[in-house]
Amino acid sequence: MVMVKAARPRVVIVGGGFAGIQCAEALASAAVDLTLIDRKNHHLFQPLLYQVATAALSPSQIAAPIREVLRGQRNCRVLMADVTGVDPEQREVRTDGAGVLAYDYLVLATGVSHSYFGNESWQAQAPGLKTLEDALDIRRRFLLCFELAERATDPAERAALLTFVVVGGGPTGVEMAGAMVEIALQTIRDEFRSIDTGQARVILVEAQPRVLAGFDPALSESAKRTLRAMGVDVRTNTRVTAIDGTGVMLTHAPEGDPGALAGGGAPVPSSEFIASRHVIWAAGVAASALGAMTGGATDRAGRVVVEPDLSVAGRKEVFVLGDMASVMDRNGLPVPGMAPGAMQMGRHAGATIARDARALDRGEALPARRAFRYVDKGQLATIGRARAVAHVFGRNVTGLPAWLLWAGVHVVYLIDFRSKVLVLMEWFFSYIFFRRGARLITGDARTAQLET
Ligand SMILES: Cc1cc2nc3c(=O)[nH]c(=O)nc-3n(C[C@H](O)[C@H](O)[C@H](O)COP(=O)(O)OP(=O)(O)OC[C@H]3O[C@@H](n4cnc5c(N)ncnc54)[C@H](O)[C@@H]3O)c2cc1C
Repeated sequence: MVMVKAARPRVVIVGGGFAGIQCAEALASAAVDLTLIDRKNHHLFQPLLYQVATAALSPSQIAAPIREVLRGQRNCRVLMADVTGVDPEQREVRTDGAGVLAYDYLVLATGVSHSYFGNESWQAQAPGLKTLEDALDIRRRFLLCFELAERATDPAERAALLTFVVVGGGPTGVEMAGAMVEIALQTIRDEFRSIDTGQARVILVEAQPRVLAGFDPALSESAKRTLRAMGVDVRTNTRVTAIDGTGVMLTHAPEGDPGALAGGGAPVPSSEFIASRHVIWAAGVAASALGAMTGGATDRAGRVVVEPDLSVAGRKEVFVLGDMASVMDRNGLPVPGMAPGAMQMGRHAGATIARDARALDRGEALPARRAFRYVDKGQLATIGRARAVAHVFGRNVTGLPAWLLWAGVHVVYLIDFRSKVLVLMEWFFSYIFFRRGARLITGDARTAQLET
């Protein structure tokens, strides 16, 4: 009898972020026909996105064409297209522009987007930071505020232009607030004649009792103290209740009394309007809508609650990875929506599919699935020049040692060698001279305005 070899499994990976790229690379020597689809042509190193938004780095230093990243992988083709639907019954994905693709294995790794908690109209006034376009828009608005303030004649308008509100005290909010205050108070201090940029206010608003709520409380406290010493007005226990083109309405409870916000009784929270022309949203996330189309259960943020092997319940051939997956670690705690978790999930799913493909190739039964084990490598957040907080090897680290650790880790994980060198050079230059190399306002100067 002649044995007919099974056809090579068709693997479709949607999303060329941390999880998708790691999954593709883990399949490099597998007998599969792999297609990676992303709506962008580039893999983006999101942890350094705030540096583009604050003019420290240029877009090309933190992004690389996905095609180039995977150019050596002969079993993989890259398609640039927006995936609009998933049909798990037919085993197909629908795209905008590249037709319908059939799969034997599907890997969804399309990440998250901003959530305005039902207040979508705020988005126009308070952009979030997720893509290169977002970062360039935030950079443009921020730099434009100083230019408009320099030529403003009304003191109230000038003050509003020099008041910046960052909503959300997680790592992104802390990084943004720290960088913005450094620019205003140091980088551009001597460059304007009508305004004193030292008068600029940066307000960081956080609904929880502490910033960096996912970190050790001592590190949250250290970050708050550092931000305040740098000149950031940190408002914890404070919620944004309205945002429009003139500013933001804040509702806050006294320090140490979060109950006032949670409806826990007196004292009644007080409100304050802050006139501001530039608000940045770093508060909430919602998982990619593609996850729900797999038929898997989802949590409140729309993340798919996956099986221990990262597949969708009842669909061994569909994996959901990275930020859009709800996964528990061995202590029963959620794996944080951070790059290390996404990368580890990508490698795990890739190895699982590769084992299946090997068995299929040999005509053997599919192997038992292995459970994903998250390895927690610690936490890092930078606050400013030579200022950061870290929790590594069970210890808290702050100040310059934490900042060096942060810088080292980020450079190591940048995807290509050229970026590593360029970013290091840029940081060295900024560190010594307090300068930022990408302070460009692009677009038509005649229409320079803040309206969206
Ligand atoms: C501003 C910011 C700062 C951060 N800082 C840190 C940090 O310091 N440390 C850390 O560990 N983590 C940080 N993170 C989190 C980290 O970047 C994410 O956890 C990680 O990127 C998740 O990887 P992922 O592969 O799940 O998704 P992503 O990296 O978001 O990749 C998703 C990919 O899917 C593509 N895509 C989305 N929808 C579609 C569609 N419909 N069709 C086709 N393609 C689609 C996107 O274009 C993107 O390429 C930060 C995130 C942000 C936004």
